[in-house]
Amino acid sequence: MIPLTKIIATLGPATSSEQQISALIKAGVSVFRLNFSHGTYEDHLKRIKIIRELAKNNKSHYTVLADMQGPKLRVGRFQNGSINLKKGQVFVLDANKETGNEKRVQLPHPEIFKVLKPKMKLLLDDGKIVLEVQKVTRCQITTKVLVGGTLSDHKGVNVPDVILPISALTQKDKKDLKFALDAQADWICLSFIQKASDIQTARRLIGNKALILAKIEKPAAVQNIAEIVSAADAVMVARGDLGVECPIASVPGLQRKIIAACRLAGKPVVVATQMLESMIKSPVPTRAEVSDIATAVCEGADAIMLSAETATGKNPVQAVQTMREVILQTQSDPDYHQYLSALRLPLDGTIACAITSSMRRMIQSLEHPACIATYSVSGKTTLRVARERALVPILGMTISEKTANQMGLIWGVVPVLTKTVKHIGEVAPLAIEHAQKKHLIKRKEQMIITAGYPFGHQGSTNILHIVDID
Ligand code: PGA
Ligand code: MN
Repeated sequence: MIPLTKIIATLGPATSSEQQISALIKAGVSVFRLNFSHGTYEDHLKRIKIIRELAKNNKSHYTVLADMQGPKLRVGRFQNGSINLKKGQVFVLDANKETGNEKRVQLPHPEIFKVLKPKMKLLLDDGKIVLEVQKVTRCQITTKVLVGGTLSDHKGVNVPDVILPISALTQKDKKDLKFALDAQADWICLSFIQKASDIQTARRLIGNKALILAKIEKPAAVQNIAEIVSAADAVMVARGDLGVECPIASVPGLQRKIIAACRLAGKPVVVATQMLESMIKSPVPTRAEVSDIATAVCEGADAIMLSAETATGKNPVQAVQTMREVILQTQSDPDYHQYLSALRLPLDGTIACAITSSMRRMIQSLEHPACIATYSVSGKTTLRVARERALVPILGMTISEKTANQMGLIWGVVPVLTKTVKHIGEVAPLAIEHAQKKHLIKRKEQMIITAGYPFGHQGSTNILHIVDID
């Protein structure tokens, strides 16, 4: 059995060569994330070229996510590189470009000064340092240090208490976005979005060149989750910043709710950050990390993500192998089906819904169900099928290379590029051929095929066909 929950690996200095990326694929990665907060265009382009080359050689499709940095607020620089803030002291953030000292530092984001109010909290360096706003003028924020520590150049600033009057795409993001689209990234990840219009604004620039994955990492995004899920093509539970901006103890509950909202809407959902954090240094994971992966799998996430573990860590391949083993073990648990069914998908009266929900029952009643095959130009039928979480892999046949590359993010989907099919009789032989090549089916097993007929019309899933391989 293949891992039905997909593995996303972030590429970085530890994973840049063809040999390293190839090893990640062998270990189980189907989606690669390029993090535009780090690295040069040259680095990213080189990695994309390697991924596409390996895809061609392996006759497979790998998905490329281009993750935009977004409006991450950062302090300026200090005279000596860093300062030490003591609890109770006064510290000023201002619009002054000069390098900072123990009393003040630049905050190069003028929009922020207008919305801050006394008593609001500023979280610095992933929440390690906490400042409370005392007084704000047009170019100066006076704060009291609630939790002190060392603050160094360019550290991040989180402001959870307000909806910031800033666009989700900075000037840097716009440049990076153009680069990523020219380099044919399959998905664009938007960081620090706060509302659906942030996605719509980005969509006007992206058009149909790539799909949009919205990262949920701000309280405002949590509040607006329904409209965001509906506006985006996929969502990420970005637990790193989410755990700074929201109470950390609320993150597991938010993860569960966001996954459920996405599964109900039929949008892919990713769980990210610190999944195997200890493996950045250690060759073995902690028990808690293994348990965290199993939880995301049982909650029905489409994909789970590695960040520094694969980008800069000492054990990138082992981290992927660990993730894969935990996914395989979890999905072979007899209770897996029950965990996934905890979320009831309502029947909406459409033909597509009747087909996909029946398909799920069929898989349960067949003796040796091996896989489901879909034939879909846009990938919509495939996505609709994946939503059922029917416990077997989904052979996602499509005539569009872009769709094939995008589908790697979806639960259970093995994308394949096929020729255009005109007659209904051509689908089954084609599906069998591809499924056998991908080792998704063997003799004495059954496959369920679903598609929309007549072919070539979008969103008309209406056939269901069972084939028995003798
Ligand atoms: P980042 O996003 O790694 O780009 O910060 C993920 C997260 O915040 O969890
Ligand atoms: Mn983040």
